[in-house]
Amino acid sequence: MSDANEVARGPWQSEYLALHDPVTSLPNRLLMMEFLAGALSSPQEGRRTLAVFALDIDNFRQLNEMYGLASGDLILAETARRLRRCVRDNDLVARVGADEFILVATGLADSKAVDGLHRRLQAALSVPVALPSGAVAYPQADMGIALAPLDAHEPDSLIHCAELALNRAKDEGPGACCYFAADMNDEMAGRRTLEGDLRRAIVSDEFVLLFQPRCDARTLELLGVEALIRWDHPQLGRLAPDEFVPIAEKSGLVIPLGEWVLRKACDTISRLPELNVSVNVSVVQFRNGELVGTVESALRATSLPAHRLELEITESVLIENTDKALDILEGLKKLGVRLSMDDFGTGYSSLGYLRTFPFDALKIDRRFVGDLDQSKGALAIVQAILGLGRALGMQVVAEGVETESQLAVLKADSCDEVQGFYLGRPMTEEALRAYIAERRLAS
Ligand code: C2E
Ligand code: CA
Ligand code: CA
Repeated sequence: MSDANEVARGPWQSEYLALHDPVTSLPNRLLMMEFLAGALSSPQEGRRTLAVFALDIDNFRQLNEMYGLASGDLILAETARRLRRCVRDNDLVARVGADEFILVATGLADSKAVDGLHRRLQAALSVPVALPSGAVAYPQADMGIALAPLDAHEPDSLIHCAELALNRAKDEGPGACCYFAADMNDEMAGRRTLEGDLRRAIVSDEFVLLFQPRCDARTLELLGVEALIRWDHPQLGRLAPDEFVPIAEKSGLVIPLGEWVLRKACDTISRLPELNVSVNVSVVQFRNGELVGTVESALRATSLPAHRLELEITESVLIENTDKALDILEGLKKLGVRLSMDDFGTGYSSLGYLRTFPFDALKIDRRFVGDLDQSKGALAIVQAILGLGRALGMQVVAEGVETESQLAVLKADSCDEVQGFYLGRPMTEEALRAYIAERRLAS
């Protein structure tokens, strides 16, 4: 079919392809930047607002793994169509990354118009996507918004502002939307230095492992401890895990960090006979695929019997790639370690996985325990989780027990284990030894 037509179409096609994404037919980053530069310098824009929306499908990787690449492409194409439908013909929607889109809306009268567009986008994207297989996918898009001339006038800096706002939205969880704010620049700079510091900290041994008691709910006997990490930062002082674990996860540094925690926890507890230890495992350690080997070598190196180690895992690990997760969990079970589901009740409500996956225990999230005294709803949830655990033959651990009355309720409903400030705060190994000695004297 090498006719003249084909030759004539050639250059046009290659120009089109150079500026468009083949999956969605949307303009690519190059064309978007050109368009944005033109729009910002146009005299009509002067008194009006131009809005840049940076969008990202939060769970695209999982959807791709779950439904296959062809369905992934279909989700992208459908997202593109929906975004286009929300804007006017002379606005622009571009695909700028695997699951990232930029939308440039021009000539907006005021902030109300921006808000209106943002709500239309959210509504359009919240509709599930039907796949040819009959399955239904639930893509979740995060959004960051930057405005010209308010936040920036230059194309590059405006895109940068929208992407910073998108990063903040991602931190807030699936489906969130954020407007750019000036402090995001500082936060990003802070995060970058913290990431550099984290690299150094692993080498120079700045981490501390604390241990929080886990007790029998009926007798209050000390059964084990949960290992909780802290970072003694040379300038910033002691940092809590919420301040650096997410950064370690984003940069992959959580892999060596998690290895250190496992080693340290097993080593400490191997010298405290009869105590069990539980260690938190991040979803990134799970994805990395070497978790079983890492756990096995920590046990071997410290001679801790496997049954004294428990791994605490959150639900998010399971929804990502169910088959792979099941393999890893079974590999861990084969080593003889215990598995518990952490923060139970806060994640995705599909309970099916509880039967499929080999968990030994459920940990009731501390939010429910904290509300026990005031809220009938919290009581009902706690009782339901206790019933579920019993029915499935799993132990139930209540976290965040702070008062005697919370303990009384949990005891009355035959909760197995309790953990919280009422029983003991996270403490150093030395303090833990004193805690054990004190209890021996008292009994
Ligand atoms: P988590 O696994 O839910 O750990 C329990 C958190 O609750 C701990 O916070 C603990 O100090 C706190 N807590 C315990 N009892 C009470 C109580 O009675 N009242 C209140 N208000 N809080 C209580 P922490 O140590 O700040 O850890 C926060 C989170 O960081 C942990 O939540 C866990 O998800 C993560 N984390 C901690 N250590 C590690 C680690 O070594 N690796 C990984 N990947 N994550 C870790
Ligand atoms: Ca935990
Ligand atoms: Ca927890």
